[in-house]
Amino acid sequence: MDRIDLHAHSCVSDGMDTPAELIAAAAAAGLDAVAITDHDTVDGWDEAASAAAEHAIALVRGIEVTCRHQERSLHLLALLVDPSEGTALAQRLASLRASRVTRAQRMVELIAADYPLTWEEVLAASTRDGVSPRTLGRPHIADALVAGGVVPDRSAAFADILTRSEYRVDNEEYPAQEAIADIHAAGGVAIAAHVLSGARVRGPKREVGDRLESLIAAGVDGFEVDHREHDDAERALLREIVSSRGLIGTGGSDYHGSGKPNQLGENLTTAASLAAISERATSTTGVLHP
Ligand SMILES: [Zn+2]
Ligand SMILES: [Zn+2]
Repeated sequence: MDRIDLHAHSCVSDGMDTPAELIAAAAAAGLDAVAITDHDTVDGWDEAASAAAEHAIALVRGIEVTCRHQERSLHLLALLVDPSEGTALAQRLASLRASRVTRAQRMVELIAADYPLTWEEVLAASTRDGVSPRTLGRPHIADALVAGGVVPDRSAAFADILTRSEYRVDNEEYPAQEAIADIHAAGGVAIAAHVLSGARVRGPKREVGDRLESLIAAGVDGFEVDHREHDDAERALLREIVSSRGLIGTGGSDYHGSGKPNQLGENLTTAASLAAISERATSTTGVLHP
């Protein structure tokens, strides 16, 4: 096992591939193991598990949990969690998904005052091969704007319309400290994803250090070190922190299918890190080996 990618999305959130297509693509990319980490849902897990058995690739089941930390959005990779509906994590995610739909509908109303856009177009643009996403969000509004010819691609939508303050609608918030505790209570491992992306433009070095320290204090198990939004210096800083603090460092592509340039396997996790994740997890979810 030396090609392990621990961050990928399917169309049950904002990826373009079905879970089965994602697994087939991971096998075709020569990966030994891949993680399915859709935003705030486990809906793709079963289909991914069947496909992983078929393609003889190891599967790590996870969720990319949207939360809030120090007044900024934070993504936590919740790996090997118990997927049952009874956990505090599952209940909180169900409530977040519902609030995201309300938020997306309100944003569409605001944007529709200035651009040709309807809620039906957002739903149509987000459905792939008959699969509707469980987590609706701004990427799907972007897809509808692309389909309607308003903008050329998702990036253009995010560079302007979707980030304008007049269309802003705030999301229900999940504090990171609570999310980490809920992930642990569900037997999973919490890795802060692309935690330094944009840090250079967002704050001085001291603030970056504070952010990382407060996540460690909140019980985070590790950091996603190798991610396309981290430059060499940021990766070196994170690598130093995980090794000196006994944490886990991971790498992942954050693959979303053809909608984004991220390629499966472009950043990898070591077998030792995956073993450490398996050891820390206390759920019965486990890594699925072919
Ligand atoms: Zn993310
Ligand atoms: Zn992601």
